[in-house]
Amino acid sequence: MLILHCPYCGVDADETDLHAGGEAHLKREGPGSTDDDFEDYLFLRENPKGVHFERWRHVYGCGKWFLAARCTNTLEVFGTYSAQTTEPPQEIKDIISEKRSGWSWGNLS
Ligand SMILES: [Zn+2]
Repeated sequence: MLILHCPYCGVDADETDLHAGGEAHLKREGPGSTDDDFEDYLFLRENPKGVHFERWRHVYGCGKWFLAARCTNTLEVFGTYSAQTTEPPQEIKDIISEKRSGWSWGNLS
């Protein structure tokens, strides 16, 4: 079972208390973007077997959105953090680099 630590209320919530919100750190496209960039924003998502960054909502707890870094293959959680960040905190990237040498995700590594 997947258990994620909510960075807002401090609860270790299991997946039945959470709602998945898809990929984190999407680059938003809007007016003025090209059709190809807007199409990519709407429809293309990472689907790795390994390190992934995701949006989660503590729906049966505090109700807030947060972000999680985890391995989709082993369910190992590298950390959770505020949804008000544009990229993962350095300490989470360091943890991932220590455990998964050579990892990359999108333009992050
Ligand atoms: Zn919470």
